[in-house]
Amino acid sequence: MSQGCLFVVSAPSGAGKTTLLKRILTTTPRAGFSVSHTTRAPRAGEQDGADYHFVDRATFDRMRERQEFLEWAEVHGNFYGTSRRAVQAALDRGEDIFLDIDVQGARQIRDLREIAAVFLFIAPPSPAVLEQRLRGRNTDQPEVIALRLENARREMVEASWYDYLIVNDQLTAAEALLRAIIIAERCRRRRGPDGRPLPPYQGQEAGAEG
Ligand code: ADP
Ligand code: 5GP
Repeated sequence: MSQGCLFVVSAPSGAGKTTLLKRILTTTPRAGFSVSHTTRAPRAGEQDGADYHFVDRATFDRMRERQEFLEWAEVHGNFYGTSRRAVQAALDRGEDIFLDIDVQGARQIRDLREIAAVFLFIAPPSPAVLEQRLRGRNTDQPEVIALRLENARREMVEASWYDYLIVNDQLTAAEALLRAIIIAERCRRRRGPDGRPLPPYQGQEAGAEG
């Protein structure tokens, strides 16, 4: 069974990463989402086990001490981490798995080199549009929005080392770009656009080279 591919997706808060990933994940075969653990309180409409595994600080610290996280970080005053076991299990099933994590976590995965990953950065078209989206989303207090805008300035600098940059201006265009990247990465790994491993060429002898 060929291994799936790990896609690490980062963006400043409000750039539209959740919106884009939801659209992609509901329509892409053999692709799944890594549900992170967080100490943040659930927002209205968020479901435990689907959006996040909501845990208290003691549980998070215990998992961290046991090395259960592939990466973890403190973001906007809360702790977030990715389960190493869940990611590995999905890859072993031949599924592509998408991580929605911040730039600190992405850097850890890059430097750890435990799993080869594809790094995608989603950017808003401008700071003004980012502010508009954060306000329009109606989920955060003005002081939280101010903190996120401030962080966005620093996060945008990190976009330079990611493999791919997608500017999320028109949603359908950004979605098409993301889909194209997924298909290209699958082809690189000798898999079809639907993620299935390609069957061996009929005339090829097993084990033959050249
Ligand atoms: P993130 O997950 O990056 O924090 P969200 O997906 O929650 O961002 O998007 C922030 C807000 O912007 C949401 O209200 C969403 O509906 C809106 N949004 C996302 N992408 C676009 C887009 N291309 N054009 C206009 N609004 C968008
Ligand atoms: P939010 O609280 O708005 O859902 O997420 C805030 C930030 O935390 C986002 O940038 C998101 O990508 C990041 N994040 C979510 N899960 C993880 C994780 O497991 N690890 C890291 N490093 N960041 C995460």
